[in-house]
Amino acid sequence: CGIVGYVGAKPAIEVVVDGLARLEYRGYDSAGVAVLTGGALKTVKRAGKLANLREALASEVTSAPSEAVAEGGTLGLGHTRWATHGQPNDRNAHPHTDCSAAIAVVHNGIIENFASLRAELEERGHELASDTDTEVVAHLLEEQITGSGGLTEAMRRVCRRLEGAFTLVAAHAAEPDVVVGARRNSPLVVGRGDGENFLASDVAAFIAHTRDAIELGQDQVVELRRDEVTVTGFDGKPVPVREYHVDWDVSA
Ligand code: GLU
Repeated sequence: CGIVGYVGAKPAIEVVVDGLARLEYRGYDSAGVAVLTGGALKTVKRAGKLANLREALASEVTSAPSEAVAEGGTLGLGHTRWATHGQPNDRNAHPHTDCSAAIAVVHNGIIENFASLRAELEERGHELASDTDTEVVAHLLEEQITGSGGLTEAMRRVCRRLEGAFTLVAAHAAEPDVVVGARRNSPLVVGRGDGENFLASDVAAFIAHTRDAIELGQDQVVELRRDEVTVTGFDGKPVPVREYHVDWDVSA
């Protein structure tokens, strides 16, 4: 129900969990984050309130300080889930990953044609770990990422195959400076900072950091780097970007 993505210089875990807290008012049943640390995407997700996720993150810090998700990572994404497909449990919470756990994806909305995509993926040998409609996206990205253009081009190709409503945000362990977002029939906003950029389903998630925003249009993909924001259509063509300043009060 809420999405946050971040790439910059601050500890991603703090920016992302704080952003999710500002979206709590929307209601949710589970929460999760993925942070890029030491060249790998570390995912932690829990059913229930953000407090459960925070507790899980804190216990990681004490049990494995060297690998802790809180250590160092400055690229991350997070999600609060309102379950539509699959029970609200730890396994179905987002982020979802591909078979090699090199790609992490969060999703708001419903992918209407997930059942046929899932059957197709299983036929090609993918093992899916959840009951969600979302997880197919991680596996489809895994197949497409082998081509040129990395995660961003993979996202465009995958979006062209999806039906329904979706805000998607994804990261790829091999691309440590890139967060990719996409949307159709569901909102996604970019927050532009200085040496850092944000993605969120609602400006409330990043308003504490920046008020310079870009609203993504229908069927658009955004590639977010520390110092660069690139927006195209699902077809890869550049599109006009609508920048604005959030000068109203956002209370969350
Ligand atoms: N359909 C997805 C799921 O059930 C996403 C739900 C949401 O928007 O939070 O996991």
